[in-house]
Amino acid sequence: MDIYCPKCEWEPPSQARWSCKCGHAWHTFDTHGRCPECGHVWRETQCLACHRWSPHHDWYHDLPPVDLDEVEEGETVEAYA
Ligand SMILES: [Zn+2]
Ligand SMILES: [Zn+2]
Repeated sequence: MDIYCPKCEWEPPSQARWSCKCGHAWHTFDTHGRCPECGHVWRETQCLACHRWSPHHDWYHDLPPVDLDEVEEGETVEAYA
């Protein structure tokens, strides 16, 4: 799996963690952006290196484009909070 930030090419190490609005911290690429605690889907993911946000599927560089209609609706407004 070829995963890295589309803006700065930072590759998330396995020990990297992202925090959900519910307070849970997990490796977001293990679950394709879905919080395993509350089920919230993060359609955008923040880079821990450059701190910029990118659509989650843009981090995957060896996958065909994702059909967004098949992705569960998620809020993105929190991404900028
Ligand atoms: Zn980055
Ligand atoms: Zn959560």
